[in-house]
Amino acid sequence: MEKTYSENRKRRVSKRRYPPKECKKPDCKESFIPHDSRQEYCCEQHRIDYNNDLRKERHKELNEFNSKLLNNEAILKKMYLATQRVKRTTINISLFEYEGFDFYCCSKQDVNVETKQSIYWCLNFGIEGKDSQGQTFIIHKKDNYEFTNKNVDNK
Ligand SMILES: [Zn+2]
Repeated sequence: MEKTYSENRKRRVSKRRYPPKECKKPDCKESFIPHDSRQEYCCEQHRIDYNNDLRKERHKELNEFNSKLLNNEAILKKMYLATQRVKRTTINISLFEYEGFDFYCCSKQDVNVETKQSIYWCLNFGIEGKDSQGQTFIIHKKDNYEFTNKNVDNK
């Protein structure tokens, strides 16, 4: 019984014909006859290679994001210290552009309970818009900001 079943199964599998496919690995693209409808690569090695390439690309993107975030934080820190020195709080957008600040990169978003404006944090420093045209900003330092908010909560 069992033998017949396995023989039948074998025959069924071998009878099956799938149309040729192109290997999913971009630099191969070789045409092959799949032995299973889910087969996407011409060989096992190309499946492994392609997944390794995807992983490498992912790490590259994460590293780029990390560098941008660290660069943003360094810019904010520098500006924060400068505003402390000259006792001015707002900074014009042109200075951020000059420093190469990336407005699309932040690690966290908060809402300032006092002003109801968003704060975009780059690790320990955050930026908050000061006017509706998005031309001027203030910079927050995390420890100071959390300290201020704790005081607000305790009232
Ligand atoms: Zn291939």
